[in-house]
Amino acid sequence: MYERKAFYIDGRWTDPIAPGNVIEVFNPATEQVIGFVPSGTAEDVDAAVAAARRAFDPLISVAERRRRVDRIIEATQRHLPAIADLITAEMGAPRRIAHGVQTRVPLAVAQGIASVLDEFEFSERIGNSLVTREPYGVVGAITPWNYPLYQVIAKLVPAIAAGCTVVLKPSNEAPLSVFAFFDALDEAELPPGVVNLVSGPGSVVGEAIAGHPDVDLVSFTGSTGAGRRVAELAGRAVSKVTLELGGKSANVILEDADLGTAVKVGVGNALLNGGQTCMAWTRMLVPQSRYGEALELVETAVARYTVGDPTDPATRLGPSACASQFETVRGFIDRARGDGARLLTGGSERIGDTGYYLAPTVFADVDPMSEIAQEEVFGPVLVVIPFTDDDDAVRIANCTPYGLSGAVWAGTDERAIDVACRVRTGQLDINGGPYNPLAPFGGYKQSGFGRELGRFGFEEYLQTRSLQLPL
Ligand code: NAD
Repeated sequence: MYERKAFYIDGRWTDPIAPGNVIEVFNPATEQVIGFVPSGTAEDVDAAVAAARRAFDPLISVAERRRRVDRIIEATQRHLPAIADLITAEMGAPRRIAHGVQTRVPLAVAQGIASVLDEFEFSERIGNSLVTREPYGVVGAITPWNYPLYQVIAKLVPAIAAGCTVVLKPSNEAPLSVFAFFDALDEAELPPGVVNLVSGPGSVVGEAIAGHPDVDLVSFTGSTGAGRRVAELAGRAVSKVTLELGGKSANVILEDADLGTAVKVGVGNALLNGGQTCMAWTRMLVPQSRYGEALELVETAVARYTVGDPTDPATRLGPSACASQFETVRGFIDRARGDGARLLTGGSERIGDTGYYLAPTVFADVDPMSEIAQEEVFGPVLVVIPFTDDDDAVRIANCTPYGLSGAVWAGTDERAIDVACRVRTGQLDINGGPYNPLAPFGGYKQSGFGRELGRFGFEEYLQTRSLQLPL
């Protein structure tokens, strides 16, 4: 049992102001309680924000920021295997995902930020003005459960590199790995108050952070519904807000593409982390002329996904991360069948007696405007939609309220880029171009605003000041 009884405030583990309220953490593979963390109040947030405010030094040197980032990276590396095991236990990511993308990518993101800091020009001359980039101030960060370490590092490390201080609220579903990360931060011996952790319900602790008058910048990742509320509260406090929200990204496979590769990579992307990835390509768009061939390739690719115990190294698809997500996904599948989509494989039936397991599920002949093609499912569900020509593909790719990610495959990169430029979304992979932890990531439309990662992510945490010099 992992029992965490304290928040991390002002450089030490600190008892909650009103102790006794806890959040139980479940293992979705066993449905058993495996630990708990304290459930905080607005007063705990006040204490954390006050500590972050005291620790904020707007004149902090770049050398000191770099030292802090280096110490965070060093300490995190030591804790990475333990954090990966906790991620498997609390949200069901298969071992190879937890020890792979769930923990390796955040480290690469942090290292990327260190390199950005080394190269960044903090001042420039514009005419007779000296324009300088200053740390934004106290950052309130609110994160979801799907990539618990990544989401935290993608906010906290650039914030620290920019000279800010941070108050973080992790998700209620997967907080243990974040508490373990704060054990690492404790060893990093940052000055007291630079990083603070308060767990608790979104409606209490999350809202207290989002609307806090002494938080300068709110960085939120989560669902579009919660993001809307966070933006409203931050707006009232006149705090800057960045929102990384949901997605329903299109994998556009044009007629002259290498269909076999595009389908195989596309299925892998849609099912990564059990489909619980905001940037997942959950809509596969294929030309009508190659539709039958594409569906056969999809079925073959999906059949390779072994569902099972996430601690088993052979498992590629673990359980849904929690009971509510499991029921949400099942509801989407049942309604899609009711809406007339053709179930190619999978379904809403629970696999086994224990654990929130579902088979990878694919729908064909899906109406692009139906719920299953419009809404983010956040489970192992892919829809395959035919299109008639490039214009039709672009129209369908753009027909959801989201615009987070996507892919275009074509016979040449130039052709894929031409089509990609017509898709209103923040990031697109061209003919299988690999993930780049330095490339800006973020949404168009209802997928949010603001960018994370690399230089663009770093700049979100900077304020701009102009000094007009005498002529
Ligand atoms: P969620 O919105 O329910 O919760 C996210 C975080 O916000 C949690 O810490 C939660 O406690 C908190 N929260 C909830 N209501 C709040 C409120 N009223 N005020 C303040 N905080 C509140 O999302 P989730 O279920 O944890 O995560 C899944 C969602 O996150 C999906 O929609 C997914 O697309 C999105 N997501 C987006 C990205 C991205 O980068 N765009 C990345 C990962 C996940």
